[in-house]
Amino acid sequence: MTALITGASRGIGAQIATLLAENGYSVAINYNNSKEQALKLERELLGQGYIAKAFYADVSSMAEADQMVREIEQTMGDIDVLINNAGIAQQKLFCDITENDFDRMFDVNVKGVFNCCKAVLPSMIREKNGSIINISSMWGQVGASCEVHYSASKAAVIGLTQALAKEVGLSNIRVNCICPGVIDTQMNADLDDGTIGILKDETPLGTIGTPNDIAELALFLSGKHAGFITGQVIGVNGGMVI
Ligand code: NAP
Repeated sequence: MTALITGASRGIGAQIATLLAENGYSVAINYNNSKEQALKLERELLGQGYIAKAFYADVSSMAEADQMVREIEQTMGDIDVLINNAGIAQQKLFCDITENDFDRMFDVNVKGVFNCCKAVLPSMIREKNGSIINISSMWGQVGASCEVHYSASKAAVIGLTQALAKEVGLSNIRVNCICPGVIDTQMNADLDDGTIGILKDETPLGTIGTPNDIAELALFLSGKHAGFITGQVIGVNGGMVI
């Protein structure tokens, strides 16, 4: 079984790639800017006897996403599992968000998902087998102040997931969406201790999450134990959004 994890050079994507490799998947590690980190993860996984290879693509480019998927198919075989994890975030007052900010947010967070789904679906439909997992956000469910373009892009990912699940179900392809809460990664590196403390206080479980909290659900949704689950939007947020 081959899995492509986009944005796997660090954070949630790197942990999903690691957990899937540990559970028998051959993993394609996509990166955009962080080549060294992706190659380091590739080396670490190979060193532990797993099958892993890093592949470059800016997922916002349909040509690059398509080229990456063709390379993976040639070197690792058809992709059984696609995890659309690559994403960017930005915090700005709505009135300060520029047209470029908005376009880049949607190009990466929404069009990136579209591009990768387009590239892998022909082989999944041919094989009548596949699992696609899109990483949205709890802010896509309820909206975040000062993150209007991010929240809107993640809401779009939820809509894309639900619609695509209905369309490809008869081809035995499942499409699900994970909505993480606050997870301890570089994406939140700008948050100071006071802000993290407030976020913990606002979370019923009293803590923020780890990349592994997301990876465990991604692993479950990838495999046969989730064979009757599709079109679902599942929060992993410590109870912050119910
Ligand atoms: P992160 O540490 O900032 O990692 C983001 C990853 O996305 C990096 O590997 C980055 O790769 C990749 N990426 C960004 N733009 C890309 C592009 N155009 N093409 C390919 N890869 C690209 O963030 P994270 O926290 O792990 O976030 C992963 C996902 O979870 C994102 O979709 C994010 O929105 C979502 N999420 C995170 C949180 C959270 O609290 N952390 C909460 C909700 C949802 P390069 O460095 O190689 O460019």
